[in-house]
Amino acid sequence: MRISELKDFVDQQVEITGWVIGKRSSGKIHFILIRDSSAFCQVVVAEKEVHPEVFEQCKHLNIETVIKIKALAVEEPRAKLGYELHLKDMEVLSTPVDEYPIPRKPSGPDFLLNYRHLWIRSPRQSAIMRIRSKVISAIRNYLDQQGFYCVDTPIFTASSCEGTTTLFKVDYFNQDVFLAQTGQLYNEATALCLDKVYCFGPSFRAEKSKTRRHLTEFWQVEPEFLFARLEDIINLAEGMIVRIVEEILTHHQIDLKILDRDISKLEQVKAPFPRMTYDQALQLLQEKNISAEWGKDFGAPEETKISESFNSPVCIHRYPSAIKAFYMKQAPEDNRLALGVDILAPEGYGEIVGGGVREEDIAILEQRIDQHQLNRDDYQWYLDLRRYGSVPHGGFGLGIERTVAWICGIHHIRETIAFPRTIDRIKP
Ligand code: ATP
Ligand code: MN
Repeated sequence: MRISELKDFVDQQVEITGWVIGKRSSGKIHFILIRDSSAFCQVVVAEKEVHPEVFEQCKHLNIETVIKIKALAVEEPRAKLGYELHLKDMEVLSTPVDEYPIPRKPSGPDFLLNYRHLWIRSPRQSAIMRIRSKVISAIRNYLDQQGFYCVDTPIFTASSCEGTTTLFKVDYFNQDVFLAQTGQLYNEATALCLDKVYCFGPSFRAEKSKTRRHLTEFWQVEPEFLFARLEDIINLAEGMIVRIVEEILTHHQIDLKILDRDISKLEQVKAPFPRMTYDQALQLLQEKNISAEWGKDFGAPEETKISESFNSPVCIHRYPSAIKAFYMKQAPEDNRLALGVDILAPEGYGEIVGGGVREEDIAILEQRIDQHQLNRDDYQWYLDLRRYGSVPHGGFGLGIERTVAWICGIHHIRETIAFPRTIDRIKP
């Protein structure tokens, strides 16, 4: 059985296999902290309760010793997770060959990242990985239930989708190709056969900025569907985010506790999310005495200021078309604006969703490709989608790591993926 199930076994004897993560002693009593794949727990070893040999063995347990124990499960209000184990018997399954390199006392992020392969074992990091896994399954279930097909899009690509400055170049049999920044253009192709599609995979961006919101390799889910109006796109994203939060609140209370997450903040996330135009967001910033110039994208400080006013994520639409990707459709009422939306997470976690309606007009698309100094030849296959059987469509991309960072309430997104890739880190 697992530590997370202790609440169902109070005052009963349980058998658990765990890894020692800490130990302290006071003569006649040892306190051993163990972890398993579900949580962590303190094991109390009283001299009079166990065989003398076991008591002696407990004295010499080092970090990452693997033990199989028989113990009584006890309710303990002072324990973080509410339970404690009183040891009856113990067997050592594996003894570490050396002292564990990560000390119990807090270490700096660089040190920990060098030992990422071991750091992920800590209760906090494991909790984040469990939550991430659930975020992903919640998204897949949500989209499957809405009739979306998962179509995997290529990672080696011949051209850029999101601007040329953040492309990773790869040598592909003596030809330069690029790692995908998004699967979106390919989604548009598959949507025209399957209507509702999504891709779910890694995206690569050579982001030179060292922020707490940018990785060079991150995961995105990108739904795309036909006849999508901007409000349909916002509704789909809103429903997905609400579902993610519900699933985590329902199934991951222990993990949220391990992370010390203030869950009242997550409980306030309810549809409908506030929606405003880019112009209204500028006005809101002005009211907060932040000068933001029309025509510029919001940076982290502006996004934080905007989201501070709301308990739920906030949807900002109709950004200036000039700062958005070439394929974004212009607003019919004002062609300086794009029919696009960004959704900002609460509590300053920034943009988690970017999406919008795609331009259908082939002439406008060709113009925009030129304006963005992209090579028209590279996009002939994409323009074919407008030449044959073209209908309005759109979609969005939701970044998994930023979403997980927000749900978990952690500062830097490098902790939301098992092995983060950033501008200055490629190992382990
Ligand atoms: P930003 O302006 O914050 O760099 P973006 O506008 O370039 O992001 P999009 O192209 O809209 O991002 O990508 C869709 C989503 O993917 C974003 O909303 C975000 O959640 C996520 N994302 C984008 N870039 C990164 C990155 N470098 N690291 C982690 N997640 C990212
Ligand atoms: Mn964006």
